Amino acid sequence: MLVVMQHGATPAEVERVVKTIEEMGYQARPMPGAQRTAVGLVGNDGRVDASRIEALSGVAQVIHVSQPYKQVSREWRPENTIVTIAPGVSFGGDEIPIIAGPCSVESEQQILTAARAVRAAGATALRGGAFKPRSSPYAFQGMGKPGLELLAMARRETGLAIVTEAMDEEGAHLVAEYADCIQIGARNMQNYSLLRAVGRMRKPILLKRGMAATINDMLLSAEYVLSEGNDQVILCERGVRSFDPAARNMFDLTAIPIVHKLSHLPIIADPSHGTGLREKVTPMARAAVAAGADGVMVEVHPTPDRALSDGGQSLFPEQFARLVAELRAIAGAIGRSIARTPGTASIEVR
Ligand code: PEP
Ligand code: MN
Repeated sequence: MLVVMQHGATPAEVERVVKTIEEMGYQARPMPGAQRTAVGLVGNDGRVDASRIEALSGVAQVIHVSQPYKQVSREWRPENTIVTIAPGVSFGGDEIPIIAGPCSVESEQQILTAARAVRAAGATALRGGAFKPRSSPYAFQGMGKPGLELLAMARRETGLAIVTEAMDEEGAHLVAEYADCIQIGARNMQNYSLLRAVGRMRKPILLKRGMAATINDMLLSAEYVLSEGNDQVILCERGVRSFDPAARNMFDLTAIPIVHKLSHLPIIADPSHGTGLREKVTPMARAAVAAGADGVMVEVHPTPDRALSDGGQSLFPEQFARLVAELRAIAGAIGRSIARTPGTASIEVR
């Protein structure tokens, strides 16, 4: 339930609403807005007697949020949430940041070469897993902490923001010391204790859609994070398992306009995992920007043939550079732009 205050409601009137909600046994979340303040009632509001709140002075309207998720819904917050992971790197506005890099951090040389290449091509953030959730326990599991140190080194050199995955609560605290944004992977989208843990942290979260998750499931998972107080959540469409083995996953681009309608949170697209095939990544990345994605995440490797994970879906650096140039044109055609690489504000970008 959302209590919309009148324009010009006094702080005392807002406080009265907060106190009343608390007396009724719920949590109140005041949200000052540009026009007016709203106070959200957190918790299952099925049996709340709204008339008690409607009668308070300064209250304009009480809105019942009809979706199962509350704080994630557009009803709760009509304007887009902008998630800023580092200075100048924001998701949810007109600018579209590109996150690029290898699937995994493999060595100093590999990650630095990748970082330099994606930066030169126009990426704003560097990706690369130090903790890898692999289907097989015998596959490369990631470098762990030394991998995070290499990512930090790459950030120092290139200025790129760092996005990297955490697989459990302990890992999330460690990742938070090094990264600008903590990725929760598809396999962990419904790891509710991990979602609650990152919800208590003050770091932006990139939440990837589970491979068998509906859009409703994904939004409910985001609600876990917001319900703990962290509203800096970026959603990510990365494809879902389907009956068709022609591609690794079925890349659900419809999720982008659907999420934009249902939620105020930004949603980005990952055409690398979405397709699983190198030559399909470029066309689907173009389509994702055209569909309104608030960011694109692409796997790029200096030598994909030697990658320790996901080499077959990783772009060569030259392919990525061509893709970024094309994405600029597509973004421009729909009134948006590809975010500039950090530190290039004064440089004319192609
Ligand atoms: C990844 O980003 O490398 C990854 C493991 O992605 P997902 O969780 O979408 O499979
Ligand atoms: Mn990968």
